[in-house]
Amino acid sequence: MTKHVLISGGAGFIGANFIAYLLKNTEYSITNADCLTYAASLENIQSFTSSERYRFIQYDIGSSEKESEIFDQKYDAIINFAAETHVDRSISNASPFIYTNINGTFHLLQAVLDGKADRMIQISTDEVYGSLSPYESPFTEHSALLPNNPYSASKASADLLVRSYYQTHSLPVIITRCSNNYGPMQHLEKFIPKVITHALTDKKIPLYGDGLNIRDWIFVEDHCRAIHMVLEQGKAGEVYNIGGNTEKTNRDVIEEIVKQTGKKNDMIEYVEDRKGHDRRYAINSTKIEKELGWSPSISFHEGIKRTIEWYRKRLG
Ligand code: NAD
Repeated sequence: MTKHVLISGGAGFIGANFIAYLLKNTEYSITNADCLTYAASLENIQSFTSSERYRFIQYDIGSSEKESEIFDQKYDAIINFAAETHVDRSISNASPFIYTNINGTFHLLQAVLDGKADRMIQISTDEVYGSLSPYESPFTEHSALLPNNPYSASKASADLLVRSYYQTHSLPVIITRCSNNYGPMQHLEKFIPKVITHALTDKKIPLYGDGLNIRDWIFVEDHCRAIHMVLEQGKAGEVYNIGGNTEKTNRDVIEEIVKQTGKKNDMIEYVEDRKGHDRRYAINSTKIEKELGWSPSISFHEGIKRTIEWYRKRLG
């Protein structure tokens, strides 16, 4: 069925990859609503403008201004990617995180309640579950929400609001919680783009603490495919974890990139650990695998190869 979806935050990393995925794999019409913070990239969305199925509206989900322009029609779904996302920034100033991640989500929920969209998918993160010790089982959808930094706390707060709108108003909402994404179009301040660009330009590669913090990594295209399946087949009121089944220490990640770029490990420079640095995230995605038939398909080796190629071209 042809759908018209409203994608908030579509000029950022995952949102732009998701729009590219929808334009390639579906007949959907897409409205991209993004207020273009420092994290957005016009380059990310430039190629979409040639499609008749795409329009862009500069819009701030934290405010209700321009609501009449964005909601000039009813949408089949809102998919909310818009967020402040950098943990280090949330430690130095949490205010924009509260504004966008909590207030912004609230405004979109209200829009659905007011009949401006049939349903909403909230793009959340495994960071809402907090940190695991090395021998604990990965987080399931029933794990407690125990966020440890202002970014993850703001995302957890938004998740609780979304849940409350389902419980209180029976609003058709779904939450997805994904592990760490990597791939083309991510901002250079994030871990993998930083490591790749430093390796390609022969700069020292900073590594926090002892380098043994563990994350589960997923190639962004696998995440986009999962969100599309949730949009098509997901059940209202449910939470779906999405993971890459690829737990790696930060040191492992850097060493893989150093190897694939033909550089040496002596580029790695250990730096002071980040405050509140969660030790390990790992996610159990059995539910989405069993119920919707999704599983990750791109290996870490292949995903890193594609990501390096993208940044290599960008650096020229
Ligand atoms: P990003 O920082 O690359 O992009 C965020 C986008 O949101 C930017 O284009 C920005 O301009 C926009 N935005 C910010 N505030 C806005 C506002 N008030 N109104 C409208 N637009 C606004 O983020 P990302 O990495 O693409 O993450 C997207 C979503 O996925 C976030 O909700 C994040 O919590 C979640 N997530 C990210 C990861 C990851 O590894 N990157 C993993 C799991 C979940």
